[in-house]
Amino acid sequence: MRAGAVRILPLGGLGEIGKNMTAVEHEGRIVVIDTGLMFPTAEMLGIDLVLPDFSSLRDRVDDIEAIVLTHGHEDHVGALPFVLRELGAQPTIYGGRLTIGLVRSKLEEHKIRDAPLEELPPGSRVDLGPFDLELVHMAHSIPDSRAVALRTSLGTVLVTGDYKFDQTPVDGRPADVSRLAELGSEGVLCLCGDSTNADRRGVAPSESTVGPALLEEFGRCPGRIIVTCFASNVHRVQQAIDAAADLDRRVALVGRSMRKNFNIARNLGLADAPEGLLISPKEINDFPDHKVVAISTGSQGEPLSALRRMAHGDHPDVELHSGDTVIFSATPIPGNERSVSETVDRIFQIGATVITASDAPVHASGHGWQEELKLMLNLTRPRFVLPVHGDHKRLRLHAELAEAVGISPECVFRGKNGLALEIYDHGEARLGEDVHAGVIFVDGVDIGEPDDVALRDRRMLSADGIFIVVATISSDDGSSVAPPEVIFRGVPFIDAADGLVEELRLVVERSLADAAAAEVREVDLLQQDLHDDVAEFVYERLRRRPMVLPVVVEV
Ligand SMILES: [Zn+2]
Ligand SMILES: [Zn+2]
Repeated sequence: MRAGAVRILPLGGLGEIGKNMTAVEHEGRIVVIDTGLMFPTAEMLGIDLVLPDFSSLRDRVDDIEAIVLTHGHEDHVGALPFVLRELGAQPTIYGGRLTIGLVRSKLEEHKIRDAPLEELPPGSRVDLGPFDLELVHMAHSIPDSRAVALRTSLGTVLVTGDYKFDQTPVDGRPADVSRLAELGSEGVLCLCGDSTNADRRGVAPSESTVGPALLEEFGRCPGRIIVTCFASNVHRVQQAIDAAADLDRRVALVGRSMRKNFNIARNLGLADAPEGLLISPKEINDFPDHKVVAISTGSQGEPLSALRRMAHGDHPDVELHSGDTVIFSATPIPGNERSVSETVDRIFQIGATVITASDAPVHASGHGWQEELKLMLNLTRPRFVLPVHGDHKRLRLHAELAEAVGISPECVFRGKNGLALEIYDHGEARLGEDVHAGVIFVDGVDIGEPDDVALRDRRMLSADGIFIVVATISSDDGSSVAPPEVIFRGVPFIDAADGLVEELRLVVERSLADAAAAEVREVDLLQQDLHDDVAEFVYERLRRRPMVLPVVVEV
């Protein structure tokens, strides 16, 4: 990297939905913006979480000035405990009030108690070596969201975080457009903007349209109402509480994170409920059905969430029955569609009714649509544009929007994770060398590489099962001295393959005889030969590749 340059390195969030993380470097110093995670897809068997690959920061720990968090969503803060632990670093962590509140509780759960967390009010500035940091208030589906303005000697790098230009947000605090415009007049060097809804034409509906829609739907429900939304969507939870209060229904917050987030938000004065309105989930059955609203986690069909458990008749406090209405005040994040539709169908099976965002306007996205992305570009007039936070399609569409508002195509970059954008002092920018930026998996509490043997094994086991072959040979001449044992589990179509196990024993005998003839006596080599012969035979017969575990015992 040339002296004086500004380097923007996205480590996650480009070409995918989730695990947002960007490192901005200038004069040898680094500011990390967001440390998000992603939830695993169905093929990542037994993997709990997916983190951005931050290994390139490992030997730069002393150069990190700070970690700045745009807002409290998991795709922006979820990897923080792992990043802090793995890097063994203690840089100051800056963010808005609720962000810091949520992160403090998250770090405590991970038993990290000494991290220097600092709430930075919008408009205040902090000197971070060659950078000057300022947060700009934005509206999003969680309170206290911020854009990050990093001033450098070349100009300001502006990372929008997630945002919409909601003119009537529930808390009455729209995005600070005048500050964005001022930053634009001072000179924005590069805009890294949220691309989530770059494919949606027009302007996103305001969050405050959801409350009246919920009230209207509530009014039609004869029995119990269960509303599910993101626990972090404090304004949505608030609107559901208000609608329930209007109809003289009690409210139970169901799900651990729902109660936790509401308490954190209430302690910060960001949410409230009238005295006596809230009841505990255990008290739901003490009230007639038409007097209760439950606000629940599980809008994404998450396996252990409260709603999913209700749908499977497995929730300790809420048993769904006909007459209940479940309102999905959220849309599935890409990748979660299947578990959501499965949950919905289970609820129908129980006899309850389901209302989703396609039936009624009970949800509004927290991400701006095309006209809002254009407004951001026009307010800030960046020299360069690097669309972030989106799959490849949306990154491309966002780039096209930038060109549509008059930014020249050579100043709009299509980046990817691990590919740095380097900007030089004479106003030239180019994409740098591709550093390795894969993913890091979290399995329980351990973290590892994706091509981890364990993961490959799990995939194999789940798809094609396992054969265990036990051969007993003589330590004198390597000949087989007992009939080989063949044990198998989870191998598809094996019942239809008549005599396969018998044939397999013959294959094992032949393999051992060949090895004995060739005077192969090393157990490791024998097992390798056995493995290859068995695997080849099984593939020929079954067209499957189960795991083959040969065990050779010498007697
Ligand atoms: Zn996000
Ligand atoms: Zn977000």
